Amino acid sequence: MTQDATLPATRMVPLREGMFRMPDRLDAPAGLLGDRCRKCGESFFPRRVFCAACSSGDMEDVEFASTGEIDTFTIVRQQPPNSVMVPPYAIVRVKLDGGPGVQTVVPTEDLAGVRIGARAQLLIRRLKEDDAGNTVVSFMARPLA
Ligand SMILES: [Zn+2]
Repeated sequence: MTQDATLPATRMVPLREGMFRMPDRLDAPAGLLGDRCRKCGESFFPRRVFCAACSSGDMEDVEFASTGEIDTFTIVRQQPPNSVMVPPYAIVRVKLDGGPGVQTVVPTEDLAGVRIGARAQLLIRRLKEDDAGNTVVSFMARPLA
C-alpha cells in the first residue's frame, strides 16, 4: 500500500479554541489572541470583555508577539494526575514583548536555557492525540539561545 504524500498525516486541533492563531505546522511561532484596552493601554490574555485595570469596555482584539522574557519559573519533577506533560518540565511566566505576562510550560528537551531574564519564544507544540486521531496542540515556550 502506498501513501499519498500530499495528504496531511493528521489534523491539528487547538487545545482550546480562540487562544492563538492556528498555524499550518507544528513548531510555528504562536501568536496569542488577546485584547488591549483602548482607554488605559493594559493588555490581556485570554480575551476579556472589560478591562481588569480600569473597567472600560473599549477593548480591541490583538495578536501578541510570540517573543518575550521569562520573569519567573518553577521546575516540575513529578507528574501531576491527568497531566500529559512528562517531567521534568518547567512552568514559566513569559512577559510578552508589548503584551501581557502569560503562563505556559517548557518541555524537557528545552529546559537547559530556562532562567529568569532569558529571552523565550512561544511555539505551537504537540500535546497529545485525541480519540479521533487529531493532533491536539497548544503553545509552549522555548528559551532563545
Ligand atoms: Zn483599561
